[in-house]
Amino acid sequence: MKDFKPVCHHCGGEIKYLNDLVVVSELLNPKPITYHDRCYVKNIKKLRGDLLGGPINTFKNTVLIILYILISIIFLFLNYVMGIIFLLVASVQIYFRLYSWFKYEKKYFS
Ligand SMILES: [Zn+2]
Repeated sequence: MKDFKPVCHHCGGEIKYLNDLVVVSELLNPKPITYHDRCYVKNIKKLRGDLLGGPINTFKNTVLIILYILISIIFLFLNYVMGIIFLLVASVQIYFRLYSWFKYEKKYFS
């Protein structure tokens, strides 16, 4: 069975290529949303700003998640409460990153 490619939530079109896929998370929504790169840049990015966070499926975000995990481990030794807080933040980020990979990005490699 062939997997269907993700659909853009702005224009409704199929996202045909991985480098055209932008996956973003919304506050209180456990399911990340997909956009075309151009639809995201033109219509969504300026409305969201930086407070709600950038796209999930970027190299920068993957590096940030690794940093969160490292900071969590360091804080677990220095300050247990801070370590747990960082670990919770990291686990949310890890969840979204894995969701994006298994639900959307993986389809471009099959
Ligand atoms: Zn679109």
